[in-house]
Amino acid sequence: MAHTALARTIAGDVDPTTLGVVNAHDHLIRNGAGEVYIDPDHQLDDVDKAVEEAGRFVSASRRWAQAGTVVDMCPANCGRDLERLAEVGRRVPDLHIIASTGFHREKVYLETRSHWVSRYSVDQIANLLIADIREGIDRHDYSGPIVERTPYKAGVIKVATSYGVITDFERTCMRAAALASIETGAPINTHTTFGTCGLEQARELIGMGVPADQIAIGHIQRNADVYYLRQILDTGAWLEIDGTYRIKYQPDTNRIMELRELGELGYGKRILLGTDSGKRSYQKAYGSVTGVDFNPAVDGPRMLEEGFDPSYVQDLLVGNGQRFFTMRKDVRGDQS
Ligand SMILES: [Zn+2]
Repeated sequence: MAHTALARTIAGDVDPTTLGVVNAHDHLIRNGAGEVYIDPDHQLDDVDKAVEEAGRFVSASRRWAQAGTVVDMCPANCGRDLERLAEVGRRVPDLHIIASTGFHREKVYLETRSHWVSRYSVDQIANLLIADIREGIDRHDYSGPIVERTPYKAGVIKVATSYGVITDFERTCMRAAALASIETGAPINTHTTFGTCGLEQARELIGMGVPADQIAIGHIQRNADVYYLRQILDTGAWLEIDGTYRIKYQPDTNRIMELRELGELGYGKRILLGTDSGKRSYQKAYGSVTGVDFNPAVDGPRMLEEGFDPSYVQDLLVGNGQRFFTMRKDVRGDQS
């Protein structure tokens, strides 16, 4: 049966080749919830600031493509505010936004014995994720018993694990995410904590039936060990590299080294870039020297200056993300 390639943005389904530069893991809006309780720097509720930040990203993207796409990786019950996110999308020309469903790591939900993930069946949880993808994300971010669907659908599913451990809560989330991905054809983009459990995420999700090439193991640059990264890639999964200019953790040379070596080893078609600028102090609109525009503004020119093949740089910024964020099934849902 004929299959039209589509990516699911909050403004509707689009031809993936129109996504332009794809920032595979970032944050434009987050309004409250656990991370903000842990550190108020995570509160990103200002639409004007988000418009400014996304505008800078699109401007920097124009060197490489006609448009820019931000994949906003705020998952269920973590402060999603689709009305604000959609307003950002409407106000920035040539900006696409892909919103997520799925889950963060357990710590972000604070006390979890009472959380609905710990009470519902895996099928019930999966159905909530599927509805976010097919019908529209809950206006209330699954924070309470009343669900009202916005017209804004999720186009990616988040999976997350803790530092060196996958908790029971996280494994339940992972099972539900796998079911939702298989059912809808939406890709899975993960959070690893400090780059740990990446190999386990890939193996377990593949074991649950998710096609390897629909899984991207995220924040993995923190584990700057090319042997380890190759093991993940050899499962067939993708890598997502972000944490740009996060000098308190590691210099950017580590990311550039990973990108160079993995490209030379032939894995360059399965690597995504993001910045994960999920705090006010990581965004130019709030006064930082770095922000959501880092990949097209700084990384791209740097890689060219350091002798990377220009077609590889174009893949990293543009082509790879357009392939990864293509929905596997016909987006009507069910026939593929
Ligand atoms: Zn993030």
